[in-house]
Amino acid sequence: MRLVMKFGGALMEDADQIANSAKLVAEKALKDNEVVVTVSAMSNVTDDLVSMAESARIGDMEKVRDVLSALEKRHLDAARKLCDEKTLKEVTARVQKLIETLSQCLTGVFLLRELTPRSKDLILSFGERLSAPLMWGALLSRGVKSIALTGGEVGIITDSTYGNAKPLLNITEVMVKDRLLPILKAGVVPVVTGFIGQDENGVITTLGRGGSDYTATILASSLDVDEVWIWKDVDGIMTADPKLVENAKTISTLSYAEVMEMAYFGAKVLHPLTVTPVQERRIPIRIRSAYNPSNLGTLIKEKGDNKVIVKAVTAIKDLSIITTGGAGMIGIPSVVSRVFSTLAQNNVNVVMISQSSSQANISMLIRNNDLERALKALKVEFRNGDLIKDITTIPKVAVVAIVGEGMRGMKGIAAKLFTAVANAGVNVLMISQGSSEFNISFVIQEEDVKKVVTSIHESFGLDKT
Ligand code: ASP
Ligand code: MG
Repeated sequence: MRLVMKFGGALMEDADQIANSAKLVAEKALKDNEVVVTVSAMSNVTDDLVSMAESARIGDMEKVRDVLSALEKRHLDAARKLCDEKTLKEVTARVQKLIETLSQCLTGVFLLRELTPRSKDLILSFGERLSAPLMWGALLSRGVKSIALTGGEVGIITDSTYGNAKPLLNITEVMVKDRLLPILKAGVVPVVTGFIGQDENGVITTLGRGGSDYTATILASSLDVDEVWIWKDVDGIMTADPKLVENAKTISTLSYAEVMEMAYFGAKVLHPLTVTPVQERRIPIRIRSAYNPSNLGTLIKEKGDNKVIVKAVTAIKDLSIITTGGAGMIGIPSVVSRVFSTLAQNNVNVVMISQSSSQANISMLIRNNDLERALKALKVEFRNGDLIKDITTIPKVAVVAIVGEGMRGMKGIAAKLFTAVANAGVNVLMISQGSSEFNISFVIQEEDVKKVVTSIHESFGLDKT
């Protein structure tokens, strides 16, 4: 069997976690399976790198040095516990070299007082570049032949959209095959840094936060593997966030389409583009628990289980509604396009849209962090006031969504959904259903999320699946 296994930050947190992860790899690799491993940075390291980059930019090198030395210590401590004597030397040398280079990059940012998207990607890449050697050392010390490589080294080639690069799948496939097949044939386990690739000029790029999942499926499709196993610290994808709903259950099967909807709608399960590379080749993905490996977790494949109509209820917080209105908008399509291009030019991501059929206003859901920027940009763009008169906002809202392919063509789902919302005594601010009918989303005040999600979860019987 040929497999890609991915380990997220929580499963790379420290020596104990990495040892457990390496054990899961060894169990398969030592039994004649071909295993490709991809790893995230140790937990919170990417956030630490973001904050160091920011500190360097504003000139606070003292803070940079503190965080950097803690980072070095954390990696060296883990290496000491994981590696045998011979391996330890090599891993230590690699970690120290990387820390030194990182330190130079941060000094560069400090001197220039400038942090470009390109240099930020370079700095963020160090998380995975530092964690991969730890997994490599842990595997070697367990008698598994292994090699640590970066995404760029194995041939993950992307465009140059720093911070959110897209893989160029055709070239990537050729390169990855070329580099990894001989390694696999030799019985060696490649440990590939998640999250990063390089563009056609050899510059390091990142695939967006949470991008290691995406790395796993890019590798999987390039190598046409049998399955992708995404190991987690939970049993699989849940019917709701267990922090909101106590009796949330693990979902046994989901389709690619359902997972896409969930990833976009706040169930922080996977990077939103994770399934895209494997969809065409129908490579199944399994989400399973590293602490409970006998549990099969959630299987993601072409077709889910359509006997279950609604599979999950998800929620995203930290959002705001922005509404543009005015009679000047009616029947003038270019106004709508100007609204969206203004937002796009200012890097404001629109999460959800709704327009009344009178066309007199459009409401858009955006992240709280983008609110100020969005407002300012729209006010400048429509300063004449003839087309758009009012721009109003509702801060601190959340979007709740129900997801399930079985909803398509079913009557009464929306009625049942909004009855559950009404029963929770909650007011709906905005509604949207995509024509795929896999998802119905609506917006409420943030403070009502727990009540609403619990009421819906119960009313669709998700607590009993
Ligand atoms: N380390 C990266 C992040 O924290 C990528 C990942 O964990 O998937 O976003
Ligand atoms: Mg993740």
